[in-house]
Amino acid sequence: MARYRGPVCRLCRRENVKLFLKGDRCYSDKCAFDRRSYSPGQHGQNKRRKLSDYGVQLREKQKVKRMYGLVEKQFRSFFQRSERQKGITGTNLLSFLERRLDNIVYRMGFVNSRTQARHFVRHCHFLVNGKKVNIPSFIVEKGDIIELKEKSRTVKTILDSLSALERRGMPKWIEIDKDKFKGIIKDYPSREDITMPIQEQLIVELYSK
Ligand code: SF4
Repeated sequence: MARYRGPVCRLCRRENVKLFLKGDRCYSDKCAFDRRSYSPGQHGQNKRRKLSDYGVQLREKQKVKRMYGLVEKQFRSFFQRSERQKGITGTNLLSFLERRLDNIVYRMGFVNSRTQARHFVRHCHFLVNGKKVNIPSFIVEKGDIIELKEKSRTVKTILDSLSALERRGMPKWIEIDKDKFKGIIKDYPSREDITMPIQEQLIVELYSK
């Protein structure tokens, strides 16, 4: 599946917010956004231009899309799915994004970035309700159990990440048992549970044009 392969710190600087795409580095003083919080490129240090309404909506969509590591086609297909669901489209969209298996693996602390999560899911390191699932966009449901395969329980990257779990915190709709390398989806995420600075209404307005 397609994904962005270019330099990622540039994306944070473009969106003017930390997107936490590089794991541990994002929490260290090496974070490029903390060091150079202006736009990338030759004219990046000039004052940021005032954006039109369309520009504001576009930037919001790009920010969320990049946060979850998706390309346009994948992101739009989640949006269309959210529109078909009952409820508020923007909230449905965020709920779908949060419930992607790669995001869940990241939220549970098995890895320290969504990119890494996607890699480990693709390589069949995780089971959902006891069955192998290697699709990062797989949507988990309430009550699903996500477990690290027995053979993968000595992988250093995963052990290191689990040991730093407290630093990142755990959303209240997920529960993890670190010792058993498994977690459960206790509930569907509500809007209040998604604490990143996202204005999903702007995305809905953009796609409704
Ligand atoms: Fe963004 Fe992380 Fe790079 Fe900082 S280190 S700019 S938060 S990806």
